[in-house]
Amino acid sequence: MKKKKLIIKTVSLLLVCSVIITAALIIRDRKTDFNSAEKSTVAMNTIMTQKIYSDVPGSQITDIITVVRVLEEMISFKDEASQLSALNREGAYDSGVIADVLEVCLDVSEKSGGAFDVTVGELSELWGIGTENERIPDADEITSVLSECGYEKIGIDGTEITFDGDFSVDLGAVGKGMACDYIMTYLKSAEGVKGGVVSVGGSIVVYGQRNKAGDKWRVAVRHPRNEGELLGVISLSEGFVSTSGDYERYFEEDGIRYHHILDPESGCPADSDLISVTVVCDSGTLSDALSTACFVLGREKGEELLEHYGAAGIFVDKEMNITTVGDIDFEY
Ligand code: AMP
Ligand code: MG
Repeated sequence: MKKKKLIIKTVSLLLVCSVIITAALIIRDRKTDFNSAEKSTVAMNTIMTQKIYSDVPGSQITDIITVVRVLEEMISFKDEASQLSALNREGAYDSGVIADVLEVCLDVSEKSGGAFDVTVGELSELWGIGTENERIPDADEITSVLSECGYEKIGIDGTEITFDGDFSVDLGAVGKGMACDYIMTYLKSAEGVKGGVVSVGGSIVVYGQRNKAGDKWRVAVRHPRNEGELLGVISLSEGFVSTSGDYERYFEEDGIRYHHILDPESGCPADSDLISVTVVCDSGTLSDALSTACFVLGREKGEELLEHYGAAGIFVDKEMNITTVGDIDFEY
């Protein structure tokens, strides 16, 4: 019964997300003068929506689905055949793809003082948020799992990764942004592509031109509390946008919201002043890692982190105060 409710909740959420994304696309459409093709697909456990502008519409949409599926097969936490699962099972693995993303993750872990930590895999499993096993774990279960975690226990030597401890890595905080990086690389090399906007769950990549006038892209940001409503619209020329929020996966008990972004210090859902963080920068992996990290850190430390990386952002706190950081064009 709980599982059925969960599926209904997930499907409705995905539909709401796709409506919001469609709303953003309609804003852009009025002035386009290139041919375009669009499609929504389920990938990486979420909705992927693409709109590709091209003089000669071709196979780009299906190529992009393949690019994302191939990546998903490598970095999936659930798929036992993935490279990530092999690493988690064996505690050592040779993978250029995973070593590269872990380099970025470890840097963000260090700069965020451990607020961002991909070794929270077992902790996420313990809470099970967004799954049929979601529950509030006992304090001693949390302490026991936390004693094994720690990003500093990951060693990288070229493409060789080694774990110095009994933990597992979960790339849920960066996977969708990473997919956006791969999509950007594809769009830059694909024949006939003028521009494109692709969203993979909470991460979005915009590339090239949407019309001959060279107007900026407009990316909608979801309202963190009112389902189906927009918080505002970001205008940008090219780049990556990632959002982390406490509304994406959560359950409530005794009036408390238990969501999926965990504070590695307490082992519990992060309880900073923030309910939504959006980050804009020139790397999808980094924008995704930073939005998660800032969510855990809270507004002040989050701002410092974004400044360190030269990234821009939008922070929304529990009172619905909106703060923008860095160079960002946000209408709300
Ligand atoms: P995002 O929606 O990008 O903020 O990513 C949230 C996902 O990242 C969660 O569902 C977990 O899989 C994972 N995660 C949760 N807390 C952390 C954390 N503090 N550092 C890194 N990954 C995390
Ligand atoms: Mg993230």
